[in-house]
Amino acid sequence: MPNQGANMDPINDCIIAGGGYVGLSTAVAIKASAPHLSVTLIDAAPELAILNDQRASAIAAAASRMLDQLGLWSKLVEHTQPINEMIVTDSRTSDPVRPVFLTFGGGGGSGDDSGSEGDGGKNGGSGEGRAGPIAHMLPNRALVTALRDKARQLDIQLIHEDAVVGFETDDPASTVYLNSGRQLKTRLLIAADGARSKLRDLAGIKTVHWSYDQMGIVTTVAHERPHNGRAEEHFMPGGPFATLPLPGNKSSLVWTEPTQNAERLMAADDFTFELELEKRFGHKLGEIEVAGPRRAFPLGLTLARDYVRPRFALVGDAAHGIHPIAGQGLNLGFKDAAALAQVIVETDRLGLDIGAMTALERYQQWRRFDTVQMGVVTDVLNRLFSNDIGPLRMLRTVGLGIVDRMPGLKKSFINQAAGRGPGNPALLNGEAI
Ligand SMILES: Cc1cc2nc3c(=O)[nH]c(=O)nc-3n(C[C@H](O)[C@H](O)[C@H](O)COP(=O)(O)OP(=O)(O)OC[C@H]3O[C@@H](n4cnc5c(N)ncnc54)[C@H](O)[C@@H]3O)c2cc1C
Repeated sequence: MPNQGANMDPINDCIIAGGGYVGLSTAVAIKASAPHLSVTLIDAAPELAILNDQRASAIAAAASRMLDQLGLWSKLVEHTQPINEMIVTDSRTSDPVRPVFLTFGGGGGSGDDSGSEGDGGKNGGSGEGRAGPIAHMLPNRALVTALRDKARQLDIQLIHEDAVVGFETDDPASTVYLNSGRQLKTRLLIAADGARSKLRDLAGIKTVHWSYDQMGIVTTVAHERPHNGRAEEHFMPGGPFATLPLPGNKSSLVWTEPTQNAERLMAADDFTFELELEKRFGHKLGEIEVAGPRRAFPLGLTLARDYVRPRFALVGDAAHGIHPIAGQGLNLGFKDAAALAQVIVETDRLGLDIGAMTALERYQQWRRFDTVQMGVVTDVLNRLFSNDIGPLRMLRTVGLGIVDRMPGLKKSFINQAAGRGPGNPALLNGEAI
């Protein structure tokens, strides 16, 4: 039950604005470790809207360990497809063959690059026998359903179709204003309201932002032959074209194009769209057909300059929106959720104020460098590869060839992609807080 403040308004320990993947996982991570804390989660969208997301995400090994520790992985694993191998090419649509410059996992490449961990062999994928898959593809709908079921089970209060429209910071609790006219009190307001976060602006937090003038088209493709758990990333002049294996003979696409081309493709009839798709996907997996709705997302880089203010913290895309070139946006958000939950729970165990800057600054220090680093890496990769400039193409070819012959370097890339590294929050190491 919420605490009672001096004015007898119930005070929530945490209010989370935004019930996307990151808001939900933050709520679950806090409440699973500290059941006595009252957590309310508010989302502007109707309850069904988020369940209609037909996309799938690449979930790094560290994130699957966190989901396992929260008791969710055993429910999710039947929906996942392990990524056992990944290849990278640098090509044009007109190229008749696309030489593979870089291979991760699957026994390809030239050395021992199998340093990934996956989920400790629980998934039953063909990555068993090696250290485990590079990552897992997981339908967003399965993820959000499992998180919401867990939130209900943990007694997290869920409010839908009501946006947070303002807040006033005060001690010992802030007042949070909802679109419906409701007012709530909280010791800590967590903004998980996505890349265009209104709460971030209301908190006066500035961002570094630029648009890539690119859009990411997302859809599902059915193909005749099995993908064998292989993901492919083709660096094309317009932007990366990634195919990510789904259960059965299906793959998820993240297809980056300059905005004008993407708008043309989104407006095209099914026949034209499929023709353009075939030019990129090819026929190595036999006949293909589009097997899901097309959606397009404008792409840009947004990095918040600060992650915290008194009684206020940013998580997920509200703190950092990055290019999907490395499939790391949500994985960074999971790390935020795990780090902030750990800071809150440990601060509370010491009997200290969870909304005080001393606690929140620890969270900011923990997460900011990592996210800026990933933002810079994805930005450089996108600039280096999304063009057809001759000397840059040559540099890329040489660079990819060198990386492919350096097992140590490949292993370090895999470690990054798997979210493995020193200073991980406990949940990402599969440990309880
Ligand atoms: C094309 C593409 C492919 C991607 N693929 C991958 C991938 O494979 N792997 C990966 O790790 N990441 C991937 N990402 C990134 C990933 O999708 C995002 O990082 C992730 O969705 C961010 O989650 P979030 O919860 O922070 O924000 P969101 O998912 O944007 O959720 C924000 C929520 O806040 C709610 N909201 C907004 N305003 C308010 C308000 N005022 N009050 C209350 N609620 C509010 C919204 O209704 C929404 O539910 C991809 C991104 C794109 C564009």
